[in-house]
Amino acid sequence: RAKARGRDRSERFDEEMRAEAIRLLDLEADLRRAIQRDAFEPYFQPIVRLADGVVVGHEALLRWRHDQHGWLPPSEFLRVCEDSGLIEQVDWLLYRRVVEWMGRHPDGYVSINVSPRHFHAEDFADRLLDMAGEAGVDPRRLRIEITEGALLDDAPRAARILGTLRENGVAALLDDFGTGFSALSYLHRFPIQALKIDQSFIAGLAGDTQTESLALVRAILALAVTLGIETIGEGVETEQQRRLLADLGCTYGQGYLFGRPARPADDQRRRVRPPALSVR
Ligand code: C2E
Ligand code: MG
Ligand code: MG
Ligand code: MG
Repeated sequence: RAKARGRDRSERFDEEMRAEAIRLLDLEADLRRAIQRDAFEPYFQPIVRLADGVVVGHEALLRWRHDQHGWLPPSEFLRVCEDSGLIEQVDWLLYRRVVEWMGRHPDGYVSINVSPRHFHAEDFADRLLDMAGEAGVDPRRLRIEITEGALLDDAPRAARILGTLRENGVAALLDDFGTGFSALSYLHRFPIQALKIDQSFIAGLAGDTQTESLALVRAILALAVTLGIETIGEGVETEQQRRLLADLGCTYGQGYLFGRPARPADDQRRRVRPPALSVR
């Protein structure tokens, strides 16, 4: 009977695997159609100075306008994009929308998320700079967000790409800092302008992991100060978190407290002069 149960279980497992494989194939086919239709749009979320709430820039976040399911966030499809290699096409479609938006909204910087895959292409920097140029956007207003993994793969090539971008005024930010391998030597070897402290540490500042989170955030901030690197706290949701981060010496923040990622209206007069938040 144990054997029979085992077989049942393995059959059920096969079935689940098959269903999952089919679902992923569907998703991939959907994605290919969406690429044909240019169905991706950036949402923008403000990045603010923690001391006074002034908006200094925005992060562009990928959304998929799906025929049946409406607006989908990356958690629904990014993995398949990465695994299939479609992420490069999706990102380039998105970056085009981003620089077009920047052309219409002349304030502040915009940071874009860059998949590690892009760092396999030697011409990534030139392509991005060309795209900004065509849209009439000053490359100094553009920033890229990368994860530590992107630097690990082929460090010399990553250094060349970041170097070209830096020479042309495009700063690089390390995203989700603290969650990767965090080989601190990166910070020396690559031109990194800012660290985005991962939201798990910001969330941890209030919970039962407070002591560890606090120690980590302190260590990251001390390191950044020593190296002259900016810091941005991610996922700031409460006034308490904002105050704590600011007191610890973190300069910038991003999170629901300041604004959720939002779809830009076509006429965005409201956004041209972002109102300062009334925080002290
Ligand atoms: P990320 O770059 O670390 O982006 C921050 C994520 O945190 C975003 O999720 C944002 O909506 C969310 N967030 C912002 N403030 C808060 C907050 O106060 N609380 C909480 N709980 N969450 C907050 P989103 O938009 O779903 O993006 C998820 C991830 O997908 C991004 O993480 C990034 O790694 C990736 N991604 C987003 N856009 C792109 C893109 O254009 N290209 C590529 N390759 N990846 C992207
Ligand atoms: Mg990011
Ligand atoms: Mg992040
Ligand atoms: Mg993240």
